[in-house]
Amino acid sequence: MPSPVGHILFAFAISGVPKPRDVLTQWWPVLVLLAAIAPDLDFLPGIVIGDPNRFHHGPTHSIAAAVVFTLVIALMFRSLSKTQILVLFLVYAGHVLIDTLAKDLGAPYGVLLFWPFDSHYYISPVTLFSNFSHGTHNEGLGGVIRDIFSVHNLWTVAIEMAILGPLLWLTERYRRRAG
Ligand SMILES: [Zn+2]
Repeated sequence: MPSPVGHILFAFAISGVPKPRDVLTQWWPVLVLLAAIAPDLDFLPGIVIGDPNRFHHGPTHSIAAAVVFTLVIALMFRSLSKTQILVLFLVYAGHVLIDTLAKDLGAPYGVLLFWPFDSHYYISPVTLFSNFSHGTHNEGLGGVIRDIFSVHNLWTVAIEMAILGPLLWLTERYRRRAG
C-alpha cells in the first residue's frame, strides 16, 4: 500500500485541493479525506485484538465497499450534489486502485477488488509505488509503529510525492483553466 500521504495527494487530484480554511469549517473536504483513508480503517479491528495487519486489504478494499461507502454518505449528507457523490466514489475506488499499484511484501498480495463476487486478490503487474511498511501479520502494535516511522517509509512518501505531486499540479492547473 502507498502511505496516507500518497492516498490524500491522489484524492485531491480527483476532488481538487480544498482551501485550508474549508477543512475546518466545511464537511466536504472532511468527506474527501474520509473517502481517501476509509479503506484502511480495516486496521482498526486488528489493533483491537493486538494484530493490526490481521484484516488489512480485506473486503474494505473492493469496488463493492466503495459503492456501500458512497451510498451511506449520500444518505447521511442529503445536500451533496450528484457530482460530489461521484467524486467520493472515485476517491474511495482510487484508494483501492493505487493500492494495487504499490509493492506488496505480505501475502496475500493485492486487494479483494471484486469481493464478494470473487475472492481473488488483485495486484497490478506494474509497480508504480513503493510499499508503506506497517509490520507483518502477527506483529504487535509496537513493531507496527516502529515500522511506520522507518527510513524506508520516508522514501516511500518521497516517491509518492515525486509521482503524485506533478499529477496534482496538472489537475489543479486544469481546474483553474476550466474555471
Ligand atoms: Zn489501503
